[in-house]
Amino acid sequence: MRILVTGGAGFLGSHLCDRLVADGHEVVCLDNLFTGRKENIGHLLQHPRFEFVRHDVVDPFKFEVDQIYNLACPASPPHYQYNPIKTTKTSVMGAINCLGLAKRVKARAFQASTSEVYGDPEMHPQREEYWGHVNPIGRRSCYDEGKRCAETLFFDYHRENKVDIRVIRIFNTYGPRMLANDGRVVSNFIVQALRGEDLTIYGDGTQTRSFCFVDDLIEGFVRFMNQTEIVGPMNCGNPGEFTMLQLAELTLKLVGGRSKIVFKPLPSDDPKQRQPDISLARRVIQWEPQVPLEEGLRRTIAYFAKQVR
Ligand code: NAD
Ligand code: UDP
Repeated sequence: MRILVTGGAGFLGSHLCDRLVADGHEVVCLDNLFTGRKENIGHLLQHPRFEFVRHDVVDPFKFEVDQIYNLACPASPPHYQYNPIKTTKTSVMGAINCLGLAKRVKARAFQASTSEVYGDPEMHPQREEYWGHVNPIGRRSCYDEGKRCAETLFFDYHRENKVDIRVIRIFNTYGPRMLANDGRVVSNFIVQALRGEDLTIYGDGTQTRSFCFVDDLIEGFVRFMNQTEIVGPMNCGNPGEFTMLQLAELTLKLVGGRSKIVFKPLPSDDPKQRQPDISLARRVIQWEPQVPLEEGLRRTIAYFAKQVR
């Protein structure tokens, strides 16, 4: 197949491009390099079945493709809050442009949605039926509401225009190729520990997240995209739930060194708990994360050890 990956030079997108090229597909990677890097796809640039296009998803684009994976959108809070209006435009206009293209060329369109559509959840763990608890006017809203609106657009194009869609809700995912200055917790803690700096816990560290290693997630993407039973939304993430204190302590144990843990103010609207219910993924795509947190952290530490210091 010929496949378009928007946001393909980013953390998840570059791993997805690797997988799709390895599976024998032709891949067009579209990215404006806001948080993505050419280094992430450098090894693919000379590949005959890979093409990089520097372009912004806010502006329309045309490609003859069979499938579209829409991943373009900064994912870490400091990056998506840097230009919040642009973040909303990226999610909303990016979805409209992907769906318009999918309609015209009859491609299947995949939306990388997020556990953030559940906001600060009152249902735990989160199932796909839950509508969420989201602040529409806070610092995280540009991302959360942009992604919620993108889901709406995907389902309206599906109902009104018969576009073949797949909507996946990704829970916190980590691994090699995250940016060292990304601002997300796993990369922050690892980079801080490697540099011998203190690990910054926001709040008291009792808030929880569930961390999925990138290889597991990409396997889930491909299985979900290529099944025909459901269009989603479908949760994808590792149900193992950890407090930020546990994550900091585990990172310190694995990296070693003399770093201490320090506490900083909790950002506004920071969800207190998050854990995916993945019964649907288990049933429909027989998917189960394989990489435990400790092993995934070791692999991610090995990557950052070459990047920083
Ligand atoms: P990332 O920031 O590494 O990747 C995003 C990519 O999109 C980057 O390459 C960036 O340059 C590109 N991009 C941003 N705005 C763009 C625009 N206007 N036009 C074209 N390209 C643009 O983040 P990631 O972790 O790889 O996330 C990829 C997708 O998955 C995002 O849509 C994100 O919301 C979603 N997601 C990720 C996670 C996670 O834990 N990693 C969780 C939930 C959802
Ligand atoms: N966090 C932290 N220290 C950091 C970065 C983040 O304690 O250096 C916390 C953050 O407040 C949140 C959790 O870790 O409670 C996960 O943050 P991240 O930005 O990785 O993802 P998200 O909040 O979007 O799930």
